[in-house]
Amino acid sequence: MKSAYLIEPGMIELREIAIPEPSDGEIVVKINAANTCGTDYKMYRRGYNLLKFPIRFGHEFSGIIAKQGKNVINFKEGDEIMSVQSAPCLECRYCRKGLPNLCTTIVETMAFGAFAEYLRLPSRIVKTNVYKKPKNLTFETAALLEPLSCVVHGIQNLNLDNVEKILIFGAGPIGLMFVNILARVHHKTVIVIELNDFRRNLAMNLGASLAINPSTISTSDLLEIIKNHQTGFLPEIVIEASGNPAVFDNAFKCLDLGGQFLFFSGPVQNTLYNLDVYMTHYNNYTIKGVFHLTPESVREARELLISGHLNVGKLLTGTATLDQLSEIFANPPVNSIKTTIYPHK
Ligand SMILES: [Zn+2]
Ligand SMILES: [Zn+2]
Repeated sequence: MKSAYLIEPGMIELREIAIPEPSDGEIVVKINAANTCGTDYKMYRRGYNLLKFPIRFGHEFSGIIAKQGKNVINFKEGDEIMSVQSAPCLECRYCRKGLPNLCTTIVETMAFGAFAEYLRLPSRIVKTNVYKKPKNLTFETAALLEPLSCVVHGIQNLNLDNVEKILIFGAGPIGLMFVNILARVHHKTVIVIELNDFRRNLAMNLGASLAINPSTISTSDLLEIIKNHQTGFLPEIVIEASGNPAVFDNAFKCLDLGGQFLFFSGPVQNTLYNLDVYMTHYNNYTIKGVFHLTPESVREARELLISGHLNVGKLLTGTATLDQLSEIFANPPVNSIKTTIYPHK
């Protein structure tokens, strides 16, 4: 079978390797659709300090069970499934503390290699984070389960009680998923700050009530507009999903007294920020970081995908074959959010 490898930042190689055989409790998935992700682009551009190269590439997928090992009880060959690329051990200190996203072995046991014809999933993923895909969900949309689970995990870490207005910096795939869930499921007023016209339009399509281009106005005007939009006070929640430390200062200035600030995007190692402690104390801010996903957020994300309340399918802006993968990463298509890779075409 063909499988894409990220050899080092900037270099993708298609290799011919054996179709994996499932051991006890494992399944081998024939990949029907695999989507590109911001993390893939991040790994391609600058590497990723949690992982060693070369590495099989791609982690957002859905497909059909081609083979399964002994003792797989919930599934059978031929089942259409959706999944994420990780699962916690459920036994370590962090798993027992209710922080399964920080499981001590979650990163080393991740199943990378969705940009391939087949992918083997270890038994802990099969037990915890694999689900049957309902027929009414396309393979392409079902492959959005992983990023959506991360976003749901982010939202589960916020207190949405008595929150009317939420501000999101950055309308990439993650920012847009936040928009969609917060507006359509939680019925919050959502404002987006984004430079790119296409992405601002998409944010409005997904439920934002205002999308601002920050390059055209001063910071004081920006604050006025954000404050006056609908409620007359600043947003109770600000979500950083741009990955750009240059916006942190303005992002904090936009937060209402008693507000919650979520650092969602994964920065490069040693990214520092001069926090205004005076403001944080007297304004009673809560500052949160979140990483990855949990079995609970996967469950909820799957329900949201099936519910029909979301229109995250709009994030799928292009398609490609495995042979075109290098080109997609070397020259990302203009105005693209996610590209669906079809390994068998
Ligand atoms: Zn992803
Ligand atoms: Zn664990």
